[in-house]
Amino acid sequence: MTTTDSVMHAMVLDRPRTPLAMRERPIPRPAAGEILIEIAVCGVCRTDLHVVDGELPDGKLPIVPGHEIVGRVAALGPGVSGFVRGERVGVPWLGATCGVCPYCRSGRENLCDRPLFTGYTRDGGYATHTVADARFCFPLPEDVGAAEAAPLLCAGLIGWRCYRMAGEGAALGLYGFGAAAHILAQVAIWQGRRIFAFTRRGDEASQNFARGLGAVWAGDSETMPPEPLDSAIIFAPVGALVPAALRAVKKGGRVVCGGIHMSDIPSFPYRILWEERQLVSVANLTREDAREFLAVAPRAGIKTQVTRYPLAQANAALADLRAGRFEGAAVLVP
Ligand SMILES: [Zn+2]
Ligand SMILES: [Zn+2]
Repeated sequence: MTTTDSVMHAMVLDRPRTPLAMRERPIPRPAAGEILIEIAVCGVCRTDLHVVDGELPDGKLPIVPGHEIVGRVAALGPGVSGFVRGERVGVPWLGATCGVCPYCRSGRENLCDRPLFTGYTRDGGYATHTVADARFCFPLPEDVGAAEAAPLLCAGLIGWRCYRMAGEGAALGLYGFGAAAHILAQVAIWQGRRIFAFTRRGDEASQNFARGLGAVWAGDSETMPPEPLDSAIIFAPVGALVPAALRAVKKGGRVVCGGIHMSDIPSFPYRILWEERQLVSVANLTREDAREFLAVAPRAGIKTQVTRYPLAQANAALADLRAGRFEGAAVLVP
């Protein structure tokens, strides 16, 4: 894509359930506390589908989606320190927090009362450039490809928060074996856990992909695993997986819902929750989650599998994600 010094390109959502459109805009100047980033790659996350489908409340419109941004610092706004021009940075979903609400003040900024989310309530990374709040950007190492690093910024980070929430048990089920699960499986196996991968019925490609990454078992999400699980994480946006996962975990086991949106959960008998099984959700991430996970990722030797699309093909990338037409993660390259 050709850009002059003053013009950027972005894929813009004007209204929910309409295709993104390529637009030319002036390159923004970073305000106080912000950095301007020249984007190398932006990952495509299932949350972007929920944004495009209008399934999340109170989003900004028009919006540039995308919250797994890898790029380089092109300019610093007034008052920014700790970054230099040309430095590689990552921008995640958590775009800003208020810093003063009870959640921010108690180490739970993921639940902030007045947050901004990248690619949802502030413009994100389906673009050649973006501005971001410097306090919520992370330096990234140079020894990983930009495309391979992008999925770490949401699939990895929020997957990590789910993983910690799931507890210490050795037998971990992952429902929906996409971008997050394929990263998390590698961390879990590195830590000596056993992964049970659940996919859409008959999705042998994803089941083989999971086995290839070291899962001890892979099968359809309606089936029971060969042994009771200590915990399970649900990444697929399918409410019917909640009772399925509760049935698969042992006494005291925990089921973590990792997505931002899910279809309705069907009613289920109390006995599958009984015996101190727990059902919890994970919302967003904290900067502490990011620092922890970005330190763990290289030690765990995580290798992300990515499918590249040109920025102008963002609609095709979203359609392929919806249909499950690739393994691992999709990324957009401007
Ligand atoms: Zn707050
Ligand atoms: Zn995401």
